[in-house]
Amino acid sequence: MRDIAKPDSRFFLKSEYGPLSDDWPAMSFSLPHLKTWLSRSYRPGSDFIIYTGTSGPDTTDQRHRSRLLSLLTIDLMRTYRTEQLIPPESWRWAQQHYPGQWEYAFWVVDGWSIVDLPLSSTVIPTAYEKTGRYPYRGMVIEITGLERENLLSLAISPLTLTRQPVVGEAITLSSLKDSPDLNMEAVRIAGLVFNRVRESGTVQQRTAPDRTAPSDLVLRVGKLLMESPLLCTLCGGLMSIRPENRLLQPSPDRIDSQNGDYGPGNFHLVHFACNLAKNQFSVAEFRQWLTLASASILAEQANTQGAAEMTADGCQPRTDTQGLSLAETI
Ligand SMILES: [Zn+2]
Repeated sequence: MRDIAKPDSRFFLKSEYGPLSDDWPAMSFSLPHLKTWLSRSYRPGSDFIIYTGTSGPDTTDQRHRSRLLSLLTIDLMRTYRTEQLIPPESWRWAQQHYPGQWEYAFWVVDGWSIVDLPLSSTVIPTAYEKTGRYPYRGMVIEITGLERENLLSLAISPLTLTRQPVVGEAITLSSLKDSPDLNMEAVRIAGLVFNRVRESGTVQQRTAPDRTAPSDLVLRVGKLLMESPLLCTLCGGLMSIRPENRLLQPSPDRIDSQNGDYGPGNFHLVHFACNLAKNQFSVAEFRQWLTLASASILAEQANTQGAAEMTADGCQPRTDTQGLSLAETI
């Protein structure tokens, strides 16, 4: 492993029911906030994911239980639905045995098998011990210090993965029109961007002329809306298309508010509520507010309902906002 790692490479442990293989050539996950967490921590090009088998019967093959199985690098640019990346028979098996699990997946860029499948508890005892415990369950754990050193000495063997043709990828104007809610949202959001570009002297869409055509922008927004899970980049909470509570609907935001460009590199979708709160401030300033605001809501909920009620949605609790008449502005 030392031969492919960089001096500052980080290794993240994930528990799995089997090794990376042609049967499952993708990194699947169930918790939407794993994506948010990895987007902030995993550096493509230098960091790695390590699979360990679980100790129980969920890891079906006994030879894989509690063993270090695979090493991989992933593409974080976008997420897929797992069924888009794995063979149909594997997805059918998963739905039969573990319905509702591993809905989302990252594309695996490179994969290796770990030779001789060493025991996780011998090589990385501290990190492995955390895998089944709250709050690490379903998430990843960074392997550091001496345990990282132990990893570097392991022998690995490269995998040649057979890729599935990614289905359901093409999005065209006509396919958008087949999905009325998605189409309506894409047109609404693209319209907001155009209005902002037109009305403000400082906000511009600095892209090539052919990319500023309205249909192109509607398609670009449509693609962003089809992300799964559809997450707010600011708070990490789930967004849905045309929710009852308008504060939770997707809204266009410039990643760098000081930069007037709405081009692909500086444009993302966030909750309308998060967009209003962030306004012209930096992400760091916004998150400082979010931490304070959510801490008091969490404490309130813990007092009234118990902490078990909390979900991954960073914008809990949902409240009724009928009659809300806020204009969507920036
Ligand atoms: Zn949000």
